[in-house]
Amino acid sequence: MSNTIELTQALLKKVSLTPEDAGCMDLMADYLQQRGFNIEWMNFGDTKNLWARRGTSAPVFAFAGHTDVVPTGPLTEWDTPPFEPTLKDGLIYARGAADMKGSLAAMLTACDGFIAAHENHTGSIAFLITSDEEGPATNGTVKVMQALDGRGEKIDYCIVGEPSSHKTFGDMVRVGRRGSINGYLTLNGKQGHVAYPELVDNPIHALAPILANITAEQWDEGNDYFPPTSFQISNINAGTGVENVVPGELKLIFNLRFSSELTPEVIKSRVTHIIDQESDDYELVWKLSGLPFITERGDLTCAVEKALIDVTGKPPVLSTGGGTSDGRFIAPYGVQVIELGPINATIHKINECVSVDDLESLSLTYQKVLENILL
Ligand SMILES: [Zn+2]
Repeated sequence: MSNTIELTQALLKKVSLTPEDAGCMDLMADYLQQRGFNIEWMNFGDTKNLWARRGTSAPVFAFAGHTDVVPTGPLTEWDTPPFEPTLKDGLIYARGAADMKGSLAAMLTACDGFIAAHENHTGSIAFLITSDEEGPATNGTVKVMQALDGRGEKIDYCIVGEPSSHKTFGDMVRVGRRGSINGYLTLNGKQGHVAYPELVDNPIHALAPILANITAEQWDEGNDYFPPTSFQISNINAGTGVENVVPGELKLIFNLRFSSELTPEVIKSRVTHIIDQESDDYELVWKLSGLPFITERGDLTCAVEKALIDVTGKPPVLSTGGGTSDGRFIAPYGVQVIELGPINATIHKINECVSVDDLESLSLTYQKVLENILL
């Protein structure tokens, strides 16, 4: 069995339910220390973070990832125990197999292969590893980036090991993410008996024209990197549960996934404008989850495309779809960031699994990216 697979299994045996690390980083730190990395623990609150670096010069190429995993769900629904990695038909089954302990193992063996062949490489290789990604993500990557920035330590290129592949290994990488913003709207009315319309002010009726206008709005047309901005309502609540009472308020939660064509300020003013036309008695609270970011075509996209063509024979689709990742905390510091990892079909699910062959290909791809950037 290859080192990548052995390391994957060793990591999968550790019960690192978010935000626990359960010894995964110690294993990684030992491995890296033996290969000339300087090990530094950057702990914030009760979160453990690893910053490991080999070399002191620029450019700095960093692998980023997380050791924590999401809860298993009902154990009885798993075919094999989620923390006893099981190899069956070329797949390893365990919680965290695809998201993302397989990637962590592939990063380690990629470095091993690269360093063995090019001991005196230029620049630096680094690892930024946290156990606070699947949870609140407040004491992990975001804090490490602040600390590095505070002492003037810069990352130039970063690969995040999130499972980016869609149908076959390497068919897709993520070069950015849309922004995400939530709105919490309360429309106020006047409660009363349904039989006396002159004495009530129905907030559900007030919503009708707002709904028509806001769902018909063209927010933008997207651009070369992003699809058009989308608007979705996720919750709507009003009514007392009985038949003869007009409710006094209506609550609505909505979300926009937005491209780099828009800013939160522009979104807020356009939404407010639509509501203002129909209501003068409402509250609207905003929560920004993340700004959009993009790694434009450059050194890193070229290095990744070239590596994947070598390994899979095909260039990847450069995508900005999917949910958020820690890339959002790294990119704002001017770092070129790409997410590249195994197939994401089973992540967070019962019977999560990853292909052994894909992990071997991933390790090889990571190694070739290192060669393309640092040689
Ligand atoms: Zn993940």
